[in-house]
Amino acid sequence: MLEAVDDRLLPPADEARRRQLVRKQDRDDFTAARMVGLLLMGFLHGAPATEYEIHQLCDVCGGRHGRPAIPNPSNFDVSWSHDQGVVAAGVGPGRIGVDVLASARSPRVRDLRSSGLSNPSIETITRAEALVKVGAGGLADLIHEAAHRAAPEPTGEVYVSDNNQRVRLQRMDVDDAIVSVASTHYVRPVFLDNILP
Ligand SMILES: [Zn+2]
Repeated sequence: MLEAVDDRLLPPADEARRRQLVRKQDRDDFTAARMVGLLLMGFLHGAPATEYEIHQLCDVCGGRHGRPAIPNPSNFDVSWSHDQGVVAAGVGPGRIGVDVLASARSPRVRDLRSSGLSNPSIETITRAEALVKVGAGGLADLIHEAAHRAAPEPTGEVYVSDNNQRVRLQRMDVDDAIVSVASTHYVRPVFLDNILP
C-alpha cells in the first residue's frame, strides 16, 4: 500500500507526530490512513489526491489531533481508522465515522478491556468508536449501553449525530478485520486497487 502512494503528501506537522510513534507498523498505518483519505477524496472528485490537504485541530488544546477534515468543493466529511496494518477511510456528505479493528488481540482492545468497560466484543468496540466519531455519544456510554442490551442489537437502529442528522451503522468486514461505519448516508465500499491513479 505505502509503495503505491506518495507519502510526500503528509504535512510537516503530521510527519512530526508520525515520528513519535514507536512501532514501525504504527508509523506506516498512520501514513496509510491519511493517504487513503486523500485518495478517496480525489477519487470522488475526479481529481488527484495532491489537490487536497488534511486539516486537523483539537478543540481542547489546539494540537494536530482530533477530528480531521479535508476541505473539498462538495463539503464531504472524512474519517479514517487504522489498526495493525489494516486501514479504512470513509468520505461522504453529512457525517461519517469509520473504525477498524484487525483482531481481538489489538492493543486498543486490550486497553479498553483493562479500563474496566465490562468485556466488550470487538464488534461492539468498532461500532461505538464509529459512533463517537460522528458525535453520537461517548465511548464508555455507547459500550455500556451495548453490553446491557438484552436482545441482539436490531439492524437499522438509528442514532443522531452532533449536527442532528440521523446516523446508521454499517458493517463492512474484510478478511479478519471488522469495519464499522456510522454515516448519515448509505455507504458503498471500494477497495484501494479501484481508486489508485
Ligand atoms: Zn488536544
